[in-house]
Amino acid sequence: MSGIPFYAKRWVSGTTLNEALNQVVILNSKNIAVTLDLLGENITSLEQAKAFTGDYVEMLGRIAAQNLKSHVSVKLTMLGLDINEDVCFENLKTILRKADELGNRVALDMEGTPYTERTLRIYEAAAKEFASPEIVLQAYLHRTEKDLDRVLQANGRLRLCKGAYKEKPEHALQKMPAIVENYKKLASRLLKEAKRVCLATHDDELINFCKQEIAGGRVPAERYEFQMLYGMRAKTWESIAGEGHNMTIYLPYGEQWQAYYSRRLAERKENVFFVLKNLFRD
Ligand SMILES: Cc1cc2nc3c(=O)[nH]c(=O)nc-3n(C[C@H](O)[C@H](O)[C@H](O)COP(=O)(O)OP(=O)(O)OC[C@H]3O[C@@H](n4cnc5c(N)ncnc54)[C@H](O)[C@@H]3O)c2cc1C
Repeated sequence: MSGIPFYAKRWVSGTTLNEALNQVVILNSKNIAVTLDLLGENITSLEQAKAFTGDYVEMLGRIAAQNLKSHVSVKLTMLGLDINEDVCFENLKTILRKADELGNRVALDMEGTPYTERTLRIYEAAAKEFASPEIVLQAYLHRTEKDLDRVLQANGRLRLCKGAYKEKPEHALQKMPAIVENYKKLASRLLKEAKRVCLATHDDELINFCKQEIAGGRVPAERYEFQMLYGMRAKTWESIAGEGHNMTIYLPYGEQWQAYYSRRLAERKENVFFVLKNLFRD
């Protein structure tokens, strides 16, 4: 039985790897790929970081053993970034070594601005040694346009999202129309220049914009994918996959679901209504 409370189950697939892999099987049967995320961030001991590193190595092994269509996503503060950057990098390398060996991919989730530069630096160093890393850039940050040059010079593999953390105006655009415009500008360039860009959004305006750019530029399927979060817009995943685009679902699991769940609630008032409605159901 999953230890996830009923109000969070929409967004978190379970507490164990087995529960998450069951969902991967279901999604793969609908021609939808997955990026698996073990929940946990800002850990406070290097022992925890080592244990999570082992969990990711196991996850990659199980994905390969079951022949699943799934890569993985990891947060560097789960691997010890707050405690010791060198140890964090070594932990990441352990995961990347396994992913390279299995021909899989590892996305480095982007956290708040205290981590942006360090995450990019670690990604750049990792991309020199390994084929598997990809990074996430956030369209709301003022610095992202310049960071994009760095990513294109490294290995050109990334996810583009709007950005989920509360940031100050000196760091990030605050108004949604400006964030959407910046996302479009960045996505347009990435669809021309990136080795592979993961277009992470639930926003129809952006999805339609990207589809037009893909069709207009005849972008081949191996150079892009759409990505959405588990629990959000399931019918849309299927229709995007049905149109012949690569579609990947970010599927989180684990005991430490609270921070992720809080970000989902903060993002959209409809998510809070969903929780309230289910709190009072029969
Ligand atoms: C795969 C993936 C990975 C991510 N990784 C990161 C990361 O590493 N770092 C980070 O900071 N953030 C990450 N995010 C979160 C991201 O930054 C945004 O906070 C989040 O995706 C909300 O922005 P949005 O464009 O999806 O939609 P929103 O801005 O929430 O909504 C825009 C519009 O989309 C439509 N819409 C949205 N949701 C629904 C729904 N459920 N049903 C119907 N219509 C809907 C509505 O028209 C809405 O007005 C990730 C998101 C995804 C999808």
